[in-house]
Amino acid sequence: MSVFEHRSFDDHERVAFCQDKASGLRAIVAIHNTRLGHALGGCRMFPYRNSYEALDDVLRLSRGMTYKAALANLPLGGGKSVIIGDPRQHKSEALLQAMGCFIDSFNGAYVVAEDSGINEQDVRVMATRTAHVAGVGGDGGVRQHGDPSPATAHGVLAGISYAARSCLGRTDLEGLRVAIQGLGNVGYELARQLRARGAQLWVADTVPERVQQAISELGATGVGVADIFSQPVDVVAPCALGAVIDDLALNQLRARVIAGSANNQLAYDDLGKALQARGICYLPDYVINAGGLMEVHFQRQGISREDSYRRIGSQIEATLAQIIERATARGEASNQVADELARQRLEGKQQPVGNAA
Ligand code: NAD
Repeated sequence: MSVFEHRSFDDHERVAFCQDKASGLRAIVAIHNTRLGHALGGCRMFPYRNSYEALDDVLRLSRGMTYKAALANLPLGGGKSVIIGDPRQHKSEALLQAMGCFIDSFNGAYVVAEDSGINEQDVRVMATRTAHVAGVGGDGGVRQHGDPSPATAHGVLAGISYAARSCLGRTDLEGLRVAIQGLGNVGYELARQLRARGAQLWVADTVPERVQQAISELGATGVGVADIFSQPVDVVAPCALGAVIDDLALNQLRARVIAGSANNQLAYDDLGKALQARGICYLPDYVINAGGLMEVHFQRQGISREDSYRRIGSQIEATLAQIIERATARGEASNQVADELARQRLEGKQQPVGNAA
């Protein structure tokens, strides 16, 4: 298997593999770019079928973190790690400790946080072997929990509020119709916050109990997973998986805005142009879902949660406004404008908007 020739290699600075036979750890750390600062990114544990699949995932995710941090105006680079294995079967204290040792070997060039399959408690176990962890509180004890999901939801809400004003001509979210795909850590919290502002909700999840809970707690309308994108709504919020906006979804969509937390929402890049041609405003995923990254960074800086949330909201709105205004003025796709701005920021050609850092 080649690494330098890999289709997702994209000039990564470091890619390291680790095997610890005693604990069964097989892991990869990818550091994409540290021009703006050390790399900060989550650790994902997933039963990849082989190491090629794991490498592909970690490379794509770490590049995404570089762009996310750049446009969130953070002094951070992009990196990510993956552990090959089923978190329900193969996770153990010894394996997490070995992962902590692996992370420590980067001397702070890579800082780990939680991602799917790895929770806050797991990161705390890694922290017994390395100081280079985030997302576990760490602000002098003010935050008991470091889970970034509520902050991610807060950022998505800020993005939806921006789109409601600028794309839908609304002054508030009262009566806004939103379809949420996925009621997990981010999606359910987003649903709660939207409901508190008077929005009407349509929801879908592969776990029926989550849908039932949203129906009874939030007055949401439950729909089948295959039908969520065809609902008569103003906004669609993908908060489950990547690559969900594909040709089929494009034909089904009735919403004028796509604004959700999932990473890599577009099945392929040119879909951004197709959405733009149909007059659908797509808020680029790595911009609108940056609230969690910002929160874990601010935790490490000792910034209060209140201040963190204020910065997340204003930064995400400012960056989205810059992207959408430029895309509209030039008739370009929002995802392409976001990529261009991120690259310019990395090259020092673009001053960031907002005041997050
Ligand atoms: P999660 O695993 O808690 O929730 C995902 C939910 O989606 C689950 O309830 C799952 O049952 C549901 N789901 C899976 N397949 C589905 C389908 N086909 N249709 C409908 N529902 C489906 O994950 P999360 O932490 O809430 O993250 C959601 C998304 O946001 C992920 O793509 C994640 O990578 C991204 N994200 C999360 C954060 C964060 O802070 N948690 C930050 C940035 C990006």
